[in-house]
Amino acid sequence: MPAAPEQPVLRFAPSPNGYLHIGHAYSALVNQRLARRLGGKLLLRIEDIDTGRCRPEYELAIYEDLAWLGVAWETPVMRQSERFPIYAAALEDLTARGLAYPCFCTRGDVSRALSDIPDWPADPDGVPHYPGVCRGMSALERQCRSAAGRRSAVRLDMRAALGGISGPLIWREYGESDAAQQIIADPAIWGDAIIGRRDVPASYHLAVAIDDAALGVTDVVRGMDLYHATSLHRLLQRLLLISPPAYRHHDILRDDHGAKLSKSARAKSIRALRAEGESAASIRRRLGF
Ligand SMILES: [Zn+2]
Repeated sequence: MPAAPEQPVLRFAPSPNGYLHIGHAYSALVNQRLARRLGGKLLLRIEDIDTGRCRPEYELAIYEDLAWLGVAWETPVMRQSERFPIYAAALEDLTARGLAYPCFCTRGDVSRALSDIPDWPADPDGVPHYPGVCRGMSALERQCRSAAGRRSAVRLDMRAALGGISGPLIWREYGESDAAQQIIADPAIWGDAIIGRRDVPASYHLAVAIDDAALGVTDVVRGMDLYHATSLHRLLQRLLLISPPAYRHHDILRDDHGAKLSKSARAKSIRALRAEGESAASIRRRLGF
């Protein structure tokens, strides 16, 4: 018997560091529409690795607001804050393979190291590439600093990582269409990116790459603001032997369906609009659903 075709798996992955706004609503609704069209399922992942900024009340609000909007998801809900040991193991693995290293620099250390260098490259978020201060540190010095209580982040050694992979690094990109394009990933634009934060053993990029695979996500539907991050996610997937999903980056917010969204509506949270008396049907209509 032929194998059953893979059921598409999609996910909406908000951070509980504030209330959902209209851009989140749009992304959740795009995910839901596509999951239905593909006969797939929609999962919810709470991206709460930033333990300083995430709050339980915002997480509860995510459930309430999505349900109010008419977005349904399958359980269980994945919460990234429960997965730190998994991310830490990946960081240890990459470090042991010489593909990542601890970085003890503060932001001030980095800007001092860069102060005299003109035309230094920056990543797509505008952050200057890391100048490599800690890259060549001896194992003994790393041990001494850790023993002295110095906390470190973990950075990807971009050159070592790129040198260790063979074959092209590409991803399947649908955008908002039904036809996939092959996009050549260019992770070098990120330099020695932080993949483990100083305060938690993960970064957004590492956790997303690991968790999309853990959930069996086949189609990542997310905003264009994360398009360039996909290059880094592809590299992490290759290094961690994770098979990649397809990507469907959508415009941040479409204004061209129905009534134009005013700037003030865009800035407001879903619950603020609701408190002003706007109905879920009206928000869905405004977003083209
Ligand atoms: Zn450093």
